Amino acid sequence: MTARIIDGKVIASDLRARVADEVARVKREYDLIPGLAVVLVGSDPASQVYVRSKHKQTQAAGMASFEFVLPTDVAQSELLALIGKLNRDPAVHGILVQLPLPKSLHTEAIINAIDPAKDVDGLHPNNAGRLAGGFAALSPCTPLGCIILTRSVHPSLEGMNAIVIGRSNLVGRPLVQLLLNQNATVTIAHSRSRDLPKLCARADLVYAAAGKPQMVRDDWIKPGATVIDVGINRLPEKDGKTRLVGDVAFSEALDVAGAITPVPGGVGQMTVACLLVNTLRAACAIRGLPTPAV
Ligand code: NAD
Repeated sequence: MTARIIDGKVIASDLRARVADEVARVKREYDLIPGLAVVLVGSDPASQVYVRSKHKQTQAAGMASFEFVLPTDVAQSELLALIGKLNRDPAVHGILVQLPLPKSLHTEAIINAIDPAKDVDGLHPNNAGRLAGGFAALSPCTPLGCIILTRSVHPSLEGMNAIVIGRSNLVGRPLVQLLLNQNATVTIAHSRSRDLPKLCARADLVYAAAGKPQMVRDDWIKPGATVIDVGINRLPEKDGKTRLVGDVAFSEALDVAGAITPVPGGVGQMTVACLLVNTLRAACAIRGLPTPAV
């Protein structure tokens, strides 16, 4: 059997097009232009690439994009003052502080300072708590993307056995909550889990988010399972360049899985598209408009 490849590029582009249509509609009907502010501290090259891509895609969707680049040695008080200003700015509906932050800054305090209504990364404790309680919340973008990709294969996840490998606040934990909301039966595994291959082999849905290159092998996967690979790892090549690989041994998994996301071209494509969804939703909620249908 050769697994069906879940094309994140196509699914993300389709989602961005639907967001752009809704943005045009709220602009026309309510004179509302959703606005996203992205704050980058320092000059980490990977973060710069992400921020540039967010800026481009936000503008392409017809939203307003505000970018703030602060020096690595910026004072915590200065960053907090900027967040306070963005919280009060009526043109800004989403605020994203690019992580990781330099060690001199207190990440938790920075996240807590963002107005939960504008927390489009879904990392504020109010949103994390609301999601865990099963209430409406702004949810982290990568897990949202994982659910959309899975539903492109299985429109209903009800009763399916899922395993989430990784328990970070950014990916693993919120993904578990979103899967529960979809009525899946969820196992959450992490670095201390025992006999991970065996746990994994029971799952109809495998989410690999451990940050360990090619950790999930073919004999971990139940034949026909759907495999969503969140990992982004750079492996050094002989010529001094690097190659992107996921947390799943892709070529092995292809022979066993029913469907699988590639790296690159899978989950990574969905994250920014879901950020646009969250910004649109936040803008409508702040204005008291119904949740847009995207
Ligand atoms: P993290 O380091 O914060 O968390 C990793 C989690 O994996 C931890 O909970 C840890 O317990 C678990 N883990 C580590 N080693 C393990 C092992 N051997 N067995 C089982 N569990 C293990 O990482 P993160 O921020 O959650 O990111 C995870 C991966 O997803 C990384 O590769 C990251 O680059 C990638 N990522 C991709 C996107 C995207 O848009 N595609 C977004 C965020 C993160």
